[in-house]
Amino acid sequence: MVHFTCDLCGKDLTACGDPRYVVKIEAFPGFDPTEITEDDLDEDPMEAVSQILQRDEQLSAEETSTPLRKGFRFDLCPGCHGKFLKDPLGKEFLRSFDFSKN
Ligand SMILES: [Zn+2]
Repeated sequence: MVHFTCDLCGKDLTACGDPRYVVKIEAFPGFDPTEITEDDLDEDPMEAVSQILQRDEQLSAEETSTPLRKGFRFDLCPGCHGKFLKDPLGKEFLRSFDFSKN
């Protein structure tokens, strides 16, 4: 039997029979490699294309150190799911963290 616990509070969702909520988050750069800027259009089209290709290669080289696309998946109990919907990025938490430093 597959066992589920809440990824936020650790509550055992299999034992208590509460509904389980799944949260999926995907983070990736909002950069379109095929996008051609005005600068590219000023130049020789073939030159511009090769520059874009080079840009792609640089991107994939960076990918080895920092993953460009990262997905997260969480199982949440109803209570934590409600909290997540109110504050998906944990901004309230981060703000209170900032205040405590001062
Ligand atoms: Zn929970």
